[in-house]
Amino acid sequence: MKKLIAGNWKMNGNRTMVRTLISEVVNALDAEQRILDRADIAVFPPALYLSDVRHTLYGFPVISFGMQDISEYEDGAYTGDISASMAADAACTYVILGHSERRQYHGETNEKVKLKAELLLAEDITPIICVGETESEREMGNALKVVGEQLESCIPVIKNNYRDIVVAYEPVWAIGTGKTALPEDIRVMHQFIREKLEDKVPDASKVRILYGGSMKPENAAEILHIQNVDGGLIGGASLKTDTFLAIAREA
Ligand code: PEP
Repeated sequence: MKKLIAGNWKMNGNRTMVRTLISEVVNALDAEQRILDRADIAVFPPALYLSDVRHTLYGFPVISFGMQDISEYEDGAYTGDISASMAADAACTYVILGHSERRQYHGETNEKVKLKAELLLAEDITPIICVGETESEREMGNALKVVGEQLESCIPVIKNNYRDIVVAYEPVWAIGTGKTALPEDIRVMHQFIREKLEDKVPDASKVRILYGGSMKPENAAEILHIQNVDGGLIGGASLKTDTFLAIAREA
């Protein structure tokens, strides 16, 4: 399966930085197109700058883009929110859901993630559903149980036909900390996620399962070659063209 390398830019930068970063990524990939044979590339700028990214990508549509979250409501009086149909209007291919920072700071629940995923599928947008345990949950030996419960409640009901969804396994304690999960723990978790998906969706073997959490050029090759790791969700290292593409090069 072709790997997906996704850059979550979070709430960083400003318009100038976003324009510079996306132009650099385009120029570098244009010069080294073989990366695109092995990896699909997607970027997730702050929503306000989606149109800047979209504008730059008109000339280089092989890079996809998306939002970092959407509302659980379809429309109406929800000040500050952006709907799934607006994400479709903005030509998003993907939307990240249930990121641990949304769960921690914005009260995101598994139930909301599921609702949002259903709204996105109705718009033909691929949800990237994030799951992952905290450090204490792992220390107590509960990592598989926690992730299993998250998947149970987050994955939208999909019957009969295959619909594109992506799952990102992001151990909370590895995000932005410089710590990464052990390769064997990643292998076990990704295998477990694949098996869980088999109970939930048709063609689970086609669902990409990304790893996220302090991925960087130095550890990307090892992580990306673990069985059932179908790409990476990259935070900090996606904010620099050379580190982002050095990771993609290992796909
Ligand atoms: C993330 O926020 O999804 C992430 C993986 O961040 P980082 O790569 O900085 O750990």
